[in-house]
Amino acid sequence: MKARAQLAAGSARIARQRRGQANKPANGLVARYARLAFGDLNTAGLARSRLARPIHHASWRFLVDLTTYKAANSAAVVQFVDPRGASQTCPACGVIAATPLSPPRHACACGCDLDRNVAAVQVSRDRTFEPGHGLRSMSVRFAA
Ligand SMILES: [Zn+2]
Repeated sequence: MKARAQLAAGSARIARQRRGQANKPANGLVARYARLAFGDLNTAGLARSRLARPIHHASWRFLVDLTTYKAANSAAVVQFVDPRGASQTCPACGVIAATPLSPPRHACACGCDLDRNVAAVQVSRDRTFEPGHGLRSMSVRFAA
C-alpha cells in the first residue's frame, strides 16, 4: 500500500507540474495575439490510441482550455478549426489528394512544394478566416 500511495503522490506531483508549465505559453499566446486558432482535435479519442502517452504528456487539452479561459478575460478571441483533411489539401490550389507520410513533403501538380506540416498549418490558417468552412467560434462551440 505504501508503494501505491507513493506512486499516486508522484503522479499527482507530475500532473501539477504539467499544469503549471501550461501557464507560461497560455499567457504568452493571449498577450501576443488578438486571434488564436487551435485545431479542434479529438484528444479523448487520440488518448485511447497509440498516441496516448504523448497526448497525456503534452497536456494539449489543458493548454487549449487554459488559453481559452485566459482569452475570455482579455481581448483575444479563440477559434477552433476542423483539422480533417488539412494534411491532404493543397494550400495553394485547394486540391485534395492523399499524400504519403514519407517523404514528409506536400508536392502538388500546381507547383506547390512544402513541408507536409507547413502545408497543413497553412490550410488550417486559411480555414480560420473562411466563415462556414471548419470555423467554429468559441461561442458557437460552447453553445452546442
Ligand atoms: Zn496545388
